[in-house]
Amino acid sequence: VPIYEFSCKRCDRRFSLFFRTVAAASEGACPACGSAEIERAVSRVAVLKGDRGRAESLDTDRILDGLDDSDVGSFARWARKVGSEYDAELGTNYRELAERAEAGDDPIERIDAGYSLNYQVEKRRAEVDTPAQPASGDGTP
Ligand SMILES: [Zn+2]
Repeated sequence: VPIYEFSCKRCDRRFSLFFRTVAAASEGACPACGSAEIERAVSRVAVLKGDRGRAESLDTDRILDGLDDSDVGSFARWARKVGSEYDAELGTNYRELAERAEAGDDPIERIDAGYSLNYQVEKRRAEVDTPAQPASGDGTP
């Protein structure tokens, strides 16, 4: 039997009701105050769990290991490696940075690569910590 969580618009309480169908749930009432003005409580859905686990498990010290950011060539090689591994999930563009560095254009990210990388990782973690809204509210469990 599906159990749905509701909140009461009048007294703001949360409670669970179960119904044979979602349509029948519209006939429910708040057990505390009796109000029929109840609405499905939006549950926090655990989405992007894989992404979050990945972002949280990123060890920036390890990623930065071996980088000599005072040397453009070393930075370019490092950025290319980091880009191939992490650009997609971090939303960064280290591969492009590598090309720019090799082309003689000195990207600002080289000056403090550690800071830049940590910033990107923190930003990504903050994003995946924000739960996405459920795609559909039709109540199908
Ligand atoms: Zn109520």
